[in-house]
Amino acid sequence: MSFPADFTHRMTAQLGAEAPDFFQALTGVPPVSIRLNPFKPSQRFQQDVPVPWCTQGRYLSERPSFTRDPFFHAGCYYVQEASSMYVEMIVREHVDVSGVRFALDLCAAPGGKSTHLRSLLPSQSLLVCNEVVPQRNFILCENLVKWGHPGIVVTRNDPEDFTQYANYFDLILVDAPCSGEGMFRKDPIAVKEWSQANVSLCAARQSTILESALAALFPGGILIYSTCTWSEDEDEQQVKRWVDEGLVEVLSLPVFDGIERNDYGARFYPHRVKGEGFFISAMRKKASTDSILNTQRRKSKPSKQKPFGLSEDQKYLAGDFFYQRQGDDVWAMPTHFKDLLEDLQAGLRVVYSGCKIGTFKGKELLPSPEIAWSIHRKNSLPFIPLDLSLALQYLRGEALPVDPYLKGWMLLVYEGYSLGWGKAVNGRLNNAYPKEWRIRMDVNR
Ligand code: SAM
Repeated sequence: MSFPADFTHRMTAQLGAEAPDFFQALTGVPPVSIRLNPFKPSQRFQQDVPVPWCTQGRYLSERPSFTRDPFFHAGCYYVQEASSMYVEMIVREHVDVSGVRFALDLCAAPGGKSTHLRSLLPSQSLLVCNEVVPQRNFILCENLVKWGHPGIVVTRNDPEDFTQYANYFDLILVDAPCSGEGMFRKDPIAVKEWSQANVSLCAARQSTILESALAALFPGGILIYSTCTWSEDEDEQQVKRWVDEGLVEVLSLPVFDGIERNDYGARFYPHRVKGEGFFISAMRKKASTDSILNTQRRKSKPSKQKPFGLSEDQKYLAGDFFYQRQGDDVWAMPTHFKDLLEDLQAGLRVVYSGCKIGTFKGKELLPSPEIAWSIHRKNSLPFIPLDLSLALQYLRGEALPVDPYLKGWMLLVYEGYSLGWGKAVNGRLNNAYPKEWRIRMDVNR
């Protein structure tokens, strides 16, 4: 594999004697890693080698076919490269999670860091996951639904739209769109599209995104900034700007073998760590002294909405939820997030929140697929256990034979983990697995 000349010159100057090892690693085979879902503990990959900076991270000795693994589709783990999992160290070291009411992942798709943050934050924290690109927003929703935690709101907004929520969030993660140098060995398109002009364009965009993020961050709150690139313009210089302006202080980062730390953050190189290229920084927003307004948190208005009433058997979730009806669709959200959700709905394009419960067809509430993955799903819902072969048949969208005495909506369950719904009618189970999520067995991923 050959790399753009400007990139090669810059990295050679940056790394000096280490450059040959770096370029060799950049043409090597990337390690495979996954992160387990603590809300869906299974035996799958428990015994594999831990990622040093992530309690639920595991290196796999080889790449299995995730497509053929029902645990993957049940949301028991997320496939994620290991360097990115370092986010956890910052949360553990610098964030008092019990004080986080409101967190924001501003550039969230496909959802690696959102699912990770959701695993680290306690249930009383609401996580807003934003992705501006519609097609990527769709994938983000899928991954969050499968993770199964209802303390989420997915928005599709430009970062600037969050400035109306000034001083609002206790924790913001900006995993910025970047020139993607750290992904070169995984993604040949990133190599092809690289140019110095694009690095400059990315740097300008990152600056604008960070400006919005800082406006939305509560003074004293933590901003995590990361990229998967090694260009200083996109990494250290972005952080330096806010330090120089006196808006933030940079926080120290926990030490691990191979991770290079400097005044502004930490760098991950593929010849030094088992992971892809990555930069990460943690900042605390300083409390402003010149304006009292700057330290006042925007207050959510008390909710005026009446909760939508459902019969007990229509409430597919166990726990304290309030239900909203929008058109024919019904959504459930943990009750303690009611005011916050309505506050977000007033100013942002909210595309998913909590857990979608179902859709009314006449008087019947058809259960929505999302319930199947919810970690709050009622235990009393009827289910059919499947072996591996039937589970794959189900995930392909095929009808399954069932006992003729079974009738109505059934969850399909593999080794205790739900994969989705089907409707039993006259000895046949009509498959209700979402069409867009169905697997093709010719794909070996
Ligand atoms: N955090 C994600 C994860 O861990 O799975 C990866 C995020 S990726 C590095 C950056 C995201 O920013 C992409 O999904 C991209 O669509 C989005 N993006 C692109 N342009 C943007 C913009 N102008 N403002 C905010 N986000 C943007």
